[in-house]
Amino acid sequence: MTFFHKHIITGPIRSRRLGVSLGVNLLPVTEKLCNYDCVYCECGWDTRWEADPAELPTLQEIEEALRTALQKLKAEGTRPDSITFSGNGEPTIHPQFPQIAPMTAACVRESYPENPPLVTVISNATQIGRPEIVEALGHCTKVLLKLDAGTPQMYARINQLQKGFKLGSYEVKDDPESYYPQLLRNLENYPHPFTMQTLLFRGEHDGMPIDNTSGAEWEAYIQRLQRIKPASIMLYGLDRETPAKALKKLSKEELEAHADELRRRGFQSVQAFY
Ligand code: SF4
Repeated sequence: MTFFHKHIITGPIRSRRLGVSLGVNLLPVTEKLCNYDCVYCECGWDTRWEADPAELPTLQEIEEALRTALQKLKAEGTRPDSITFSGNGEPTIHPQFPQIAPMTAACVRESYPENPPLVTVISNATQIGRPEIVEALGHCTKVLLKLDAGTPQMYARINQLQKGFKLGSYEVKDDPESYYPQLLRNLENYPHPFTMQTLLFRGEHDGMPIDNTSGAEWEAYIQRLQRIKPASIMLYGLDRETPAKALKKLSKEELEAHADELRRRGFQSVQAFY
């Protein structure tokens, strides 16, 4: 079943990765809007990556909804662990994200001056080549950037960058693999500490095998990490129903074994979530 956030603010919920999390959805409330179409996306399949601004919540609407939610939580004596930009797609493609991120950080500091919750962004990293997005992410205290594959072929199969998507001089025509080197360069050059988030799984889609957990593919992924040097790494497994039906969840033991291997290969901060 497809999972949608039905409002700008959702929760707080208990998130397996972030603790008590108040969600902020910057995207439409009835469908997904993302420049990826990941085979595991809980929001289902998508064919759109460009929004009509009229479909998106405005900066003012987001601020009002956030302030109302934070006041209610404070009145109840609740302090979430994280205010989290997630939702029905990729948050950084909202055209006002450069204003929304600092506004959110300021609201959180005003509400909890002694011990502000994290301001977290869960992002697919496709926008971090834009200086205004990098600056906006600098206002967030926890930035999770996605890399699911060590090769362009596996990247194209898993994340399915949308055809027609444009970013600066780059436009996806029939070759979503060709964006992969640019994505790696942007991750290597990202100037703030961040957490790499990677969903590990196996299966197949459209008759093509998918496996980012073993052999040359896993080794290529580790070598990418060695160049990118994230401050920390989150490995996680499938949790909700996926639009591609032939995907297999890794066991707790397998995820922990992969985390252990990354630690042995020199990464200091690695966590596995299942
Ligand atoms: S990047 Fe996130 S929102 Fe976009 S398709 Fe992938 S899982 Fe879904």
